[in-house]
Amino acid sequence: MQLLEDRIARDGVVKSGNVLKVDSFLNHQIDIDLLDALGAEWARLFQDKPITKILTIEASGIGIACMAALHFDVPVVFAKKTQSLNLDGEMLCTKIDSFTHKKTFDVVVAKRFISPDDHILIIDDFLANGCALRGLIELVGQAGAVVEGLGVAVEKGFQGGGDDLRARGYRVESLAIIESMDAESGAICFRTA
Ligand code: 5GP
Repeated sequence: MQLLEDRIARDGVVKSGNVLKVDSFLNHQIDIDLLDALGAEWARLFQDKPITKILTIEASGIGIACMAALHFDVPVVFAKKTQSLNLDGEMLCTKIDSFTHKKTFDVVVAKRFISPDDHILIIDDFLANGCALRGLIELVGQAGAVVEGLGVAVEKGFQGGGDDLRARGYRVESLAIIESMDAESGAICFRTA
């Protein structure tokens, strides 16, 4: 999506360790007009799918998912990260390795918020190695619901998580795919279709 690529090129900052900072528009300060446009694009791309709910993960997925949900007219559920798991049988739960925090979180969603007749669109801000999305897919599977697709704002294509998910048959719609980036020069190259 040209709008997002242009914004990343203008305001994204490449950090060492393969981290792209987009905190001036996507996940700290938030440009809601941009998020609205991302939501509209996912609504167009997934218009053939009977989406009943959007699932994301706290914290930075929430704003993006909520703006997208306005275009689908469905609720948003977000998975919560916790370090003290108190399993009471009412929770769907899995573990997710955090790329940015370099630790493993237990991640939970209350069972009552995803049912077997749900058709889920999973949305997140970034796709790197794919741990976060695989964890969310696992939660949907535990609920017996259907994953209709995955909507990602920024995919770092060189980290392979997106290609792995596509190879497993998931429909991944990333609105910007970074093919390479360099912390020293600040250069960012996007994947062309
Ligand atoms: P994955 O689980 O695919 O390896 O990483 C995705 C998760 O890590 C996302 O939820 C996102 O919050 C975080 N993340 C991964 N790479 C980056 C990055 O380059 N910049 C930022 N801001 N977050 C990232």
